[in-house]
Amino acid sequence: MSGSVNIPTPRNEPVLGYAPGTPERNALKAALAVVGAQQPEIPVVIGGQEVRTGVFHDLTSPHCHRRVLARVHQADRASVQRAADAAVEAQRDWAHWRFEDRAAVFLKAAELLAVTHRQLLNAATMLGQSKTAFQAEIDSACELIDFLRFNVHFAERIYAEQPESAPGVWNRMDHRPLEGFVYAITPFNFTAIAGNLPTAPVLMGNAAIWKPSTTAALSNWHFFKLLEEAGLPPGVINFVPGAPADVSDVLLADRRLAGIHFTGSTAVFQLIWRRVAEHLDRYAGYPRIVGETGGKDFIVAHASADVGALAVGMVRGAFEYQGQKCSAASRAYIPDNLWPAVRDRAVAMIDDIRMGDVSDFRNFMGAVIDQRAFTRIRDHLDRAGKDAGVKIVAGGGTDDSVGWFVEPTLLEVEDPGYRTMCEEIFGPVLSVHVYPEKRWAETLELVDRTGPYALTGAVFSQDRGALTQADRALRNAAGNFYLNDKPTGAVVGQQPFGGARASGTNDKAGSILNLLRWVSPRSIKETFAPPREYRYPFMGEA
Ligand code: NAD
Repeated sequence: MSGSVNIPTPRNEPVLGYAPGTPERNALKAALAVVGAQQPEIPVVIGGQEVRTGVFHDLTSPHCHRRVLARVHQADRASVQRAADAAVEAQRDWAHWRFEDRAAVFLKAAELLAVTHRQLLNAATMLGQSKTAFQAEIDSACELIDFLRFNVHFAERIYAEQPESAPGVWNRMDHRPLEGFVYAITPFNFTAIAGNLPTAPVLMGNAAIWKPSTTAALSNWHFFKLLEEAGLPPGVINFVPGAPADVSDVLLADRRLAGIHFTGSTAVFQLIWRRVAEHLDRYAGYPRIVGETGGKDFIVAHASADVGALAVGMVRGAFEYQGQKCSAASRAYIPDNLWPAVRDRAVAMIDDIRMGDVSDFRNFMGAVIDQRAFTRIRDHLDRAGKDAGVKIVAGGGTDDSVGWFVEPTLLEVEDPGYRTMCEEIFGPVLSVHVYPEKRWAETLELVDRTGPYALTGAVFSQDRGALTQADRALRNAAGNFYLNDKPTGAVVGQQPFGGARASGTNDKAGSILNLLRWVSPRSIKETFAPPREYRYPFMGEA
């Protein structure tokens, strides 16, 4: 950082409402028509050069799987290697840019996203990832804008972190970027996370290779173009869609791998970590590994819970975006005194939910992301329909004739160790275990020890003592813990997000903690009056 600058204080981007007749609704409808009518070819971008490999993946709309939205060139191994070279080359200059110049690129990107490109990104997220207008707005607009603005603010705080100096000495901390490239591997389910994973390290002076999720390539591509427009120099982020195994084979074997910024499933993260361990003696340094992964997020209700708030928390928490949020409620523990009332309210809401093409704004839900997800969820539902001790209380149906549609489903499960209570399904399926009202303490223990994950969780109670008890018993069961609220909807700067156990390294995306992983500090001591005598005073004769 040169001199002294004041970064504009970030404020969370206001969420637009899209009610009938509003200008934002009209603009979004127009953008949907434009994005839906295009069928762009999305290239690989290496060092600012667009590369067309001619090997395509056709990106289709989840709610209309015959509709091709884009044709995505898949990187071959040679291009992946060139992307690594380009990143290292670009970093030579980028790492020496003044902080305020780097910051300006991302603040400008936030502004472009907020003003001129908002509806383009929202439309691409809606059509490509099957989000409703509201779900797209809180993701590809607000959360991504917040990541960009808040990260700049957190970075400023890191650079301001400087050591004490003794008289005659000036100590300084040089918050250097890592030496080498950062490999950013992004998930399908949040355009904001996809944008954040490469940009957070890059803000700190690193260069990155961004491997987008195949199914989110359309919105991710538009964001990449926006970064170019905001002034990101060529090669600082290289956009490399491709077969994950091919891209990883090349990058994880490269001695210049300096960091991995991952969000996705636990299984893939563990695969990557193992590969890094195998290659450890090849690397120039120890790669930083940051990964936010799966969850089996819970709602636990005390006998004193407000039934209306609980039922809404369950329905919104489990079914918004088809349950494909890492934070989505997927297991619930409800006391038997409340269950009949909670069930009836939840079923009434579920019966009211409309599902379909997200361009029809009356729909609350779209489709799940792809055939693989659809098959996985349908298999769970088929088994649940047959297994003893499981009752399908609502939903349970699937339909893949037009899109990958799965009904919002409520299961009542006798055995709290049943697979749908333990495994991440990543779809609109909420399993409920009804417990005897008196067994509150035992139920908290059960919640804590069920499954390997610890991402999000919510407790509903109107009894302060019960809330305190849950807070203590579940301290390690969730990295994001909610009292009388649904377990989804974390906001950048307000509820930094991430979990532990099998849910990730808990480096809290969009917080100062995450940015700290992308710097390698150098301590500098400058002495103004160096000693000229090697002897110390104590050595004098008495
Ligand atoms: P995924 O693991 O299938 O894919 C994530 C990314 O990894 C994609 O880019 C994919 O192409 C890539 N990938 C797959 N195999 C790979 C390999 N061998 N080498 C390198 N990359 C590989 O996950 P997804 O379906 O995109 O996302 C859903 C998962 O992400 C869920 O498990 C969800 O809980 C998790 N998630 C977690 C958080 C969080 O903050 N904890 C946030 C969002 C999503």
